[in-house]
Amino acid sequence: MKKYPIITSISYPKKGAMGKTGTWRVFKPILDQNKCVKCLQCWIYCPEATIIRKEDNSVEIDYEYCKGCGVCANVCPTKAITMVREGEEK
Ligand code: SF4
Ligand code: SF4
Repeated sequence: MKKYPIITSISYPKKGAMGKTGTWRVFKPILDQNKCVKCLQCWIYCPEATIIRKEDNSVEIDYEYCKGCGVCANVCPTKAITMVREGEEK
């Protein structure tokens, strides 16, 4: 599996004048760790840098800042991320 080393500067989401951007969300990405193959496509493509990469290359979603754009769900090759309407997740 291809590895993506961290070799560039990375920006991180911060609370802005409008507060934490997670409150803007209409749809919420739900990650199924059982389907995740740690390819990091979601981490690379998330425009808000709200996919958190861990030491073992597993990922988590920072719901305080995720805007629910759905890019992560679209790029995930194993469909490990599903977009559900906010408040309707199980
Ligand atoms: S829904 Fe958009 S902002 Fe939220 S984690 Fe996925 S790509 Fe990032
Ligand atoms: S794109 Fe999908 S399979 Fe790849 S790390 Fe993200 S959730 Fe896991």
